[in-house]
Amino acid sequence: MDRIKMTTPLVEMDGDEMTRVLWKMIKDELIEPYVDLKTEYYDLGLEHRNETNDKVTADSAEATKKYGVAVKCATITPNAARVKEYNLKEMWKSPNGTIRAMLDGTVFRTPIVVKGIEPVVKCWKKPITIARHAYGDVYKSVEMKIPGAGKAELVFTDENGNETRELIHNFNGAGVIQGQHNLNSSIESFARSCFNYALDLKQSLWFATKDTISKKYDHTFKDIFAEIYENEYKEKFEAAGIEYFYTLIDDAVARVMKSEGGFIWACKNYDGDVFSDMVSSAFGSLAMMTSVLVSPSGVYEYEAAHGTVQRHYYKYLKGEETSTNSVATIFAWTGALRKRGELDGISELCDFADRLEKAVISTIESGKMTKDLAAITELENPVVLNSQDFIKEIKNTLDKM
Ligand code: NAP
Ligand code: MG
Repeated sequence: MDRIKMTTPLVEMDGDEMTRVLWKMIKDELIEPYVDLKTEYYDLGLEHRNETNDKVTADSAEATKKYGVAVKCATITPNAARVKEYNLKEMWKSPNGTIRAMLDGTVFRTPIVVKGIEPVVKCWKKPITIARHAYGDVYKSVEMKIPGAGKAELVFTDENGNETRELIHNFNGAGVIQGQHNLNSSIESFARSCFNYALDLKQSLWFATKDTISKKYDHTFKDIFAEIYENEYKEKFEAAGIEYFYTLIDDAVARVMKSEGGFIWACKNYDGDVFSDMVSSAFGSLAMMTSVLVSPSGVYEYEAAHGTVQRHYYKYLKGEETSTNSVATIFAWTGALRKRGELDGISELCDFADRLEKAVISTIESGKMTKDLAAITELENPVVLNSQDFIKEIKNTLDKM
């Protein structure tokens, strides 16, 4: 059989621990036998990040800007224990944080739905994608404890030294205050990423804030989304048969719980933090989620939403059997290959990505799965496979297809 040819390389970002082990198995068993894989390889494993003083991370983000599509393995974000374990020169920053800052993107997370692992919310028939704004608000706030009576004010000093003041509160006793900010440029990027992704998926976009209470802060989010939609996307949305829908956050929550899914839910930073955990746990597990960073300029980075599964890796190193779920990592590869196929007009590559995803889903639906899924499935007598055998079983299914 002739392998599928690629014209532009994928940016391949290798990672750490158990996911690095899975990464190689996935390439060897599920991709390279079928695709004449072209990648520009960056080793983001912690040892190599340390050797390059983390330059490799920035280089991989630059390459992503150049080529447009990357696939990333989970990586260790160093803490004090990792600095010791790997004898690091520095406590290097989170690679995801570095890449996100350089690409200025929004992260979209969608559950992978299979029969036998049913969402706990019974009316959810289709996946709900969460788009989380990844800048500002409470994550970049400053806070103060107020010890006792006194006046707290917001003060803005412009470049010429002119002050604008707003009274926060005249305190009679102790209390707390908090100052948050966001940037119009960041909200604009967030909005464009969401509108582009909705067009990509041909799904409607929901957005919600608390603009009735927060008449300047949240209202600015609402206004920026509305203006960009009217000026740049309305016609495209109408042509695609999808809608942009704005409502209040509490109303959105009530509607989401009664919906059948199948839309993108854009969330402010805090709402996205909270509701992405709600949606992912209601649908099953982090190992059954796709995750993609989309930049406003239309650059895509696909990854798994979970970490490097350290506990399993130490078992693997001791020669013990592991049953680590590779689905999210496989879907990172299929997402990237499909996007590359779309951009380069290689329909065989898109078809291959579709087929591999179907093979994964039908393997699980036939009752063969990893331990984490066996624990939550409604299928009777699931067959629990180890990490390697699960991937081999997917290959069997794929070959039959
Ligand atoms: P984790 O790797 O997500 O794993 C936490 C636990 O969740 C595992 O011990 C396992 O539970 C379960 N789990 C997660 N993914 C699984 C999978 N694919 N298959 C089966 N079970 C899975 O989080 P962590 O252990 O807290 O973090 C390990 C490292 O990952 C850290 O150094 C962190 O910095 C990094 N991290 C990276 C990313 C990223 O690159 N995107 C994201 C988060 C964390 P059981 O042990 O009970 O089986
Ligand atoms: Mg969280």
